Amino acid sequence: MFKRILIANRGEIACRIIKTARRLGIAAVAVYSDADKDALHVEMADQAVRIGPPPAAESYLSIEAIVEACRSSHVEAVHPGYGFLSEQAAFPRALAKAGVVFIGPHPDAIDAMGDKIAAKQAAAKAKVSTVPGYQGEIADEAQAQKVAAEIGYPVMIKAAAGGGGKGLRIARDKAEVAEGFLRARSEAKSSFGDDRVFVEKYIENPRHIEIQVLGDKYGNVIHLGERECSIQRRNQKIVEEAPSPLLDETTRKKMGAQAVALAKAVGYDSAGTVEFVAAQDKSFYFLEMNTRLQVEHPVTELVTGFDLVEQMIRVAAGEKLSIRQSDVKLKGSAVETRIYAEDPYRNFLPSTGRLTRYWPPAETVKGGVTVRVDTGVTEGSEISLFYDPMIAKLVTHAPTRAGAITAQADALDSFVIDGIRHNIPFLAALMQLERWKAGQLSTGFITEEFPKGFHPAAPAGEAGQTLAAVAAAIDHVLGERKRRISGQRLDAAVTRERRRVVRLGDSEFVLDINREDDGLAVRFDGDAKRHVVSSDWKPGGALWTGTVDNDPLTVQVRPVLNGFELMHCGTDVRAYVFTEREAEVARVVPPRIAADGGKAVRCPMPGQVVSIAVTEGQEVKAGEALAVVEAMKMENVLRAERDGVVRRIHARPGESLAVDAVILEFA
Ligand code: ADP
Ligand code: ADP
Ligand code: MG
Repeated sequence: MFKRILIANRGEIACRIIKTARRLGIAAVAVYSDADKDALHVEMADQAVRIGPPPAAESYLSIEAIVEACRSSHVEAVHPGYGFLSEQAAFPRALAKAGVVFIGPHPDAIDAMGDKIAAKQAAAKAKVSTVPGYQGEIADEAQAQKVAAEIGYPVMIKAAAGGGGKGLRIARDKAEVAEGFLRARSEAKSSFGDDRVFVEKYIENPRHIEIQVLGDKYGNVIHLGERECSIQRRNQKIVEEAPSPLLDETTRKKMGAQAVALAKAVGYDSAGTVEFVAAQDKSFYFLEMNTRLQVEHPVTELVTGFDLVEQMIRVAAGEKLSIRQSDVKLKGSAVETRIYAEDPYRNFLPSTGRLTRYWPPAETVKGGVTVRVDTGVTEGSEISLFYDPMIAKLVTHAPTRAGAITAQADALDSFVIDGIRHNIPFLAALMQLERWKAGQLSTGFITEEFPKGFHPAAPAGEAGQTLAAVAAAIDHVLGERKRRISGQRLDAAVTRERRRVVRLGDSEFVLDINREDDGLAVRFDGDAKRHVVSSDWKPGGALWTGTVDNDPLTVQVRPVLNGFELMHCGTDVRAYVFTEREAEVARVVPPRIAADGGKAVRCPMPGQVVSIAVTEGQEVKAGEALAVVEAMKMENVLRAERDGVVRRIHARPGESLAVDAVILEFA
């Protein structure tokens, strides 16, 4: 076994690999760019080596810098994690020259699977079912149209070198094929430096299901079941689970056997993933093979009980696989959500800044339920715009899928992040959707369920009452504390009014609240039932955990002027608890309106101006592009929200802007 390995990565995956290395008694060496000198992975490692300035091309993507770090730290092997150099065959080749072992597959397997056309041909040869289509490169538009007509519409045009959802185009008729062919080709050229494209059948209403495979250097290959990753936004996975609610045992066996056959065909000797697209009738077709550890590997670890990083390290060190196919049993159900630094209320624009508060839920194993947090940050960490916006993965496991979903929803409710915008409210809302709970998934899920973006409604009905009762209870506890301050008149003439008007977003609840033997008793007007709220929440706490009528719940509490903000199950509302008199007054006092009359276009996140699309004096229509701002590897187009005339432009291309900096003003 190795004594010392280097992790050529950062963030949560570097931390996750260090944990396994430590458990196996292997010293872990981290690498870092200047942007990461105080990062968690650096702190966790036994040694850390600086590899360059913040841009990834000069640090985490520099083979030279990492090979040099291996030399100076005397490691025997390197784990690449995912992303960065993990799927570049040149990296293991350079390591081999330096006498360092690559903890991943041999470079020829990476080459064979890196090209989608070649991979599809290899798959077909290994009798893997592939998406119907033309098995080769398409030369021009005319050929694309001919092939599309043969396959039958709709078709998908794909870049041979594609990845990360780039270079994909759906075409539903002849004209779309011509246009899609040209656009896929130019996107492939600019993104991958390789303009080869191919055409295949577009599977309607598809699901993304993938098989985890594991091989060693002696020709043994097994699979560890599947993961379903159909919940995607712009072809990027957001929620993953194992096992898939679609598959039955027979389909699982067939899919697993095909994945193993393909892996064997390329002499696969590490952990890898064979991706399939599946139709709702359970027919499935090979998509591509990812020759690395996948982001969503934890769900497989939780249902199989095997540590994939450990297995990768062992086979790289030359050990034989100690797991046989018959040892692989899927137990229970696991769900993973990806926590991203992005603003779900502003079309998921990336968000950067310092984590002023970061309290992930506790990692626990209790009553058959596991909560696991794979995180790459701590309170005080800076989310910079140089790297991927994913900051953590939250994974839950339970005996049933419903149990794993409930555990995930609870864990999301108690995950507190302040200082940046994040997608936890969106994930929490998603967990509540009936269609998700029923497992009726497809890659179009998010577009279909959130056609107009994410605009959560304030909780109504019973959920509204529950939250109103919690708001009244919080206010009551605050009041009790104020009343304990010394020097006040506390004679019998002064009693706290029991009657309260709770305003939650746009709805109002009128209730009576009183401390009784079993907790705070709440009675709503027009509802005979007495509700009991109990919690040991203390003023100042960001997490309110307790029960309402014995049902446990967790609510996040943040103070705002005259009230507080409550976050629960994806809703995020302002709550005000008034006496009846206060409520009357509040109704006639106009709410404060932001001073800015809406004439300024502000930068929604810190970033760099790529281009300004308009000039001073120009007339623009709503929806027209005004400027492009780059942040976190993404170019974000800012569009006009209404018609108008540009009066002044304040920002220049190349300029770095803070959040809310004025880019331009309308007349
Ligand atoms: P990438 O390398 O970018 O991950 P993939 O080939 O894995 O590209 O495809 C990305 C996503 O696009 C898949 O998860 C699936 O949702 C969708 N997709 C790809 N090919 C097809 C197809 N033939 N029919 C339907 N959907 C597809
Ligand atoms: P707060 O708004 O500070 O939470 P309450 O809403 O419980 O306080 O109080 C409602 C009203 O009851 C107050 O505006 C005040 O008129 C009266 N009150 C309650 N407790 C006291 C007290 N200890 N001393 C004086 N007045 C009190
Ligand atoms: Mg893929």
